[in-house]
Amino acid sequence: MANGTPLKLGWLYPTLMSTYGDRGNLTCLQRRAEWRGIAVEVVALDRDSPAEAFAQVDVIVGGGAQDRQQELVMRDLQGEKGAGLKAALDGGTPGVFTCGSPQLLGHYYEPGVGQRIDGLGVLDLVSVHPGPDADRCIGNMVLKITASRLAADLQKMLGRVPYVIGFENHGGRTKLQTAEPFAQVIKGYGNNGEDGTEGAFQGNAIATYSHGPLLPKNPFLADWMLKKALERQRQEEVNLSPLDDAWADQGRVMMLNRLGVQESA
Ligand code: GLN
Repeated sequence: MANGTPLKLGWLYPTLMSTYGDRGNLTCLQRRAEWRGIAVEVVALDRDSPAEAFAQVDVIVGGGAQDRQQELVMRDLQGEKGAGLKAALDGGTPGVFTCGSPQLLGHYYEPGVGQRIDGLGVLDLVSVHPGPDADRCIGNMVLKITASRLAADLQKMLGRVPYVIGFENHGGRTKLQTAEPFAQVIKGYGNNGEDGTEGAFQGNAIATYSHGPLLPKNPFLADWMLKKALERQRQEEVNLSPLDDAWADQGRVMMLNRLGVQESA
C-alpha cells in the first residue's frame, strides 16, 4: 500500500507530446515510487488545464512531438501556463524533458517548414530545424553526464556516474548559449552533431534528445528525480530503498556491448 501525501507527477500534453514511447518515463517514475510504497498521482497538464495546475506539481515529464503538435503546444503555453511552468522549474521542481520539450523550453524553435515560434526562455538555448531535406539525427546514443551537480549527486548515491543510454530522432539542431549541457556525446549526434554537447541541465531539470525512453533504460535518473521531489516535499534528506534492477542492468550491458562502448570508471 502506498502512503503519505501523493507525489504529483505532471505530464505535459499527453496526447500531443509522447513520441517514441516517452510515456515510459512517466510509467517508470510511477512504478519506482509505488514499488517503494510512495503514493503518486498523475496530473495531465494540457490545453484544458488551468494555468495554476502547471505550477502545482512535484515532478514534470515532457515528451517529444512532431513539429505540428509542438507548435500547438508552444502556442498554448504562451502566457500564464508557460509562466506557471517556468516558476515550477525555476523553483527547483525536478523534470525530464525530451526532444521537442527542451526545444520549447528554449528561446525559440524554427521548424523545418514555417515561422519561428517563441519558446518559454527557461533554458538559454535556441533550436533550428535546417529544413525538410536535411538529414535527421537518428540512432542509439551513449552519453557521459557532465552536468556538475547531477554528476555529484549520482556519485554520492551510487559511488559512480553511469553512462546514459538512449535513442534520438530529431530534425532540429540545438545550440546552447549559457545553458549547462546535460552530457557529453560518446555515441550519437546530441544537440547538433557538431559540438559534442547533449541536452541541458538547469535547476533540477534534465533536458535531452534522448528518447529510449530515457528513465527505464537509466533507472538511476528516475531515482534521482524521485529523491529530489521527495526531499522538496518532506524538507528532509531522503534515501530511497534499493530495487532489483537486474534486467535493466543486463539490458544496459547488452546495449553498451552492441554499440562498442566501454564504460569508463
Ligand atoms: N520536432 C522536433 C524535431 O524534429 C522534435 C522531434 C521529437 O520530439 N522527436 O526536431
